[in-house]
Amino acid sequence: MPYLSLDVGALETNCYLFYDEAGRDCLVIDPGAEADRIMALIDQNKLLPRAIVLTHGHPDHAGAVASLMARYRIPLWLHAADEEAMRSAAGLGLAAMFGVGPLPAVERLLRDGDTLVCGRLELKVIHSPGHSPGSVLLHGQGLLFSGDTLFRGDVGRSDLPGGDEEELRRSLAMIRELPPETIVLPGHGPASVLELELKDNPYL
Ligand SMILES: [Zn+2]
Ligand SMILES: [Zn+2]
Repeated sequence: MPYLSLDVGALETNCYLFYDEAGRDCLVIDPGAEADRIMALIDQNKLLPRAIVLTHGHPDHAGAVASLMARYRIPLWLHAADEEAMRSAAGLGLAAMFGVGPLPAVERLLRDGDTLVCGRLELKVIHSPGHSPGSVLLHGQGLLFSGDTLFRGDVGRSDLPGGDEEELRRSLAMIRELPPETIVLPGHGPASVLELELKDNPYL
């Protein structure tokens, strides 16, 4: 499987390293905290980080962004709606609660349908608002990085600033259309397979 994962920080956020085995190109997905442990895993596996991609802007997914950007000289990619949300008073307040500074400059504002290239591999961006206005799913290589939109047996909350229950329902309906054998890699907790979620997850 073309990824590694480690859980970081107080909320045990899953940080994923999505990489192309041949060239070692790597996208760092949701480096929420503990930059040192993330860098150690990158270096042990001789990966070459090309960008940081956030499934959404919440600070438990972004706490190590600044350190990784400085170390590897890589850009930050995030959906426009969450870039805006995290610069708002509510967003800055949430970041402060986590002891995380303001988000560094976002070089690429993601849009629905974008293709993210990682060596010879690709991930498609699916805009999935509901947990936050700029949440995205990253889909490709039989994997779905689902952020805080879908967890094993559960879904993300929609009662934080910028959350919207109706939008979350629509986003979950899009997930139902993906191939059932898709491996689900959520922002917190264990991985799953979409087929199991379709059977057991009351929200799907
Ligand atoms: Zn979140
Ligand atoms: Zn989270």
